[in-house]
Amino acid sequence: MEAYELTGAQAREKLRRKEISSRELTKAILNRLKSVEPQIEAYLTISEDLAMKQAEEADIRLTSGMDITPLTGIPIAIKDIICTRDILTTCASQILKDFLPPYDATVIERLRHAGAVFIGKTNMDEFAMGSSTENSAFKITRNPWDKERIPGGSSGGSAAAIAADAAIVALGSDTGGSIRAPASYCSVVGLKPTYGRVSRYGLIAYGSSLDQIGPITKDVMDCALLMNTIAGYDPRDSTSVNSPVPDYSCACGRDVKGLRIGVPGEYFLEGIDPEVENLIRAAIAQMESLGAIPVELSLPHTEYAIPCYYICAMAEASSNLARYDGAHYGDRARGTDNIIDMYSRTRAGGFGTEVKRRIMLGTYVLSAGYYDAYYLKALKVRSLIKRDFEKAWEKVDLIATPVAPTPAFRIGEKTTDPITMYLSDIYTISLNLAGMCGISIPCGFTSAGLPVGLQLIADIFKEDTLLTAAYAYEQSTEHHKRKPPL
Ligand code: GLN
Repeated sequence: MEAYELTGAQAREKLRRKEISSRELTKAILNRLKSVEPQIEAYLTISEDLAMKQAEEADIRLTSGMDITPLTGIPIAIKDIICTRDILTTCASQILKDFLPPYDATVIERLRHAGAVFIGKTNMDEFAMGSSTENSAFKITRNPWDKERIPGGSSGGSAAAIAADAAIVALGSDTGGSIRAPASYCSVVGLKPTYGRVSRYGLIAYGSSLDQIGPITKDVMDCALLMNTIAGYDPRDSTSVNSPVPDYSCACGRDVKGLRIGVPGEYFLEGIDPEVENLIRAAIAQMESLGAIPVELSLPHTEYAIPCYYICAMAEASSNLARYDGAHYGDRARGTDNIIDMYSRTRAGGFGTEVKRRIMLGTYVLSAGYYDAYYLKALKVRSLIKRDFEKAWEKVDLIATPVAPTPAFRIGEKTTDPITMYLSDIYTISLNLAGMCGISIPCGFTSAGLPVGLQLIADIFKEDTLLTAAYAYEQSTEHHKRKPPL
């Protein structure tokens, strides 16, 4: 086994036993990048010098045996929406192409203290708006399983990097599926924590009532290890919740006997690829053979999730993106002679088509005369969607669904039709609207060899239940061990 193929937990063991140094591990990843990056283009910035310096520091900690954490010396890839004070943070947008944040996000601060090694910043849809990573202003990331296909989005770079062994662990962010969908399309694990579990301080805002940072990893245990470092209260994020964080690694290995798993009928209607449906149903049967109890369930407001989400998310986006005006941050249009012209030319030139579409639609649904008809109505529907889940938790401990209706689609297949692109989010957005947590885990491959992910959803702050079920399922299958043909 090559060093770059190690999971975080395996690498940690080898580092602890001094069978490898963090410098050797980091070099192995940087070398791996030389051969796989030209094929998949997962990264926007590779921070080689910083990584080698951090690896050296980690080796000092590891040698002294002091102050070692499970992430000390472990190479990590970071979605380019998370602020890093010494690495460019572009959000895959022209408007932030030279932006060096003056501070670290809280999760980055925590990773630095833990001794993690920053390999670089990964590609994404501009401002996390998209489902394929095709909305990046800079490059197209390819799916390591089929380079003609998208890796999913918006955290496509992080998922592709993990699938291609171009980092040991990674961070993504999820507003409506951006961690889980790429994890599913690339056959890796991705967890969207409960809203409020992980600090959003330093996460560039898209839809502030929905955004969460979470791990993208090779297996479930690594997900737990990363959660142990990033989760927890942060006074700098007023929505972060001050409640104790369990040791998530302890959740891996618990029994799933008697766990009630809801299967919502609304997630298996028309539009789902039959091969995807078969793999999801087989995964649920597998969980049943491990002792879990499937329970049929209804989440009746599922059909309103897409319009509801896209109204809420666009409204919030239009407000959040007002700050990019050429005066405060990022790019400024040159040669203008008055401030209005400067604002409008900066924004016209700095944002891509999808971002502009969302700013316009978001402004529209918030404007006088339309606010009640669209935005307020969407908020009411959001409450109903949340109530569907709350009722479900009276009957079940978890809900199992597909992550996406189809496997990864072809590059360019949906770019001319935004509605079709939005529809691919059908199974992931409801739980963001409800604030719940969810995980995507590999559950097999279609006949064409494309990965499919199983989504497990749990009530707020029940990440441990998610991890218990996901770990038990993963350990009883071989899907997560398969590697793409690179
Ligand atoms: N595809 C969804 C959107 O474009 C979700 C993106 C995300 O989770 N950041 O809004």
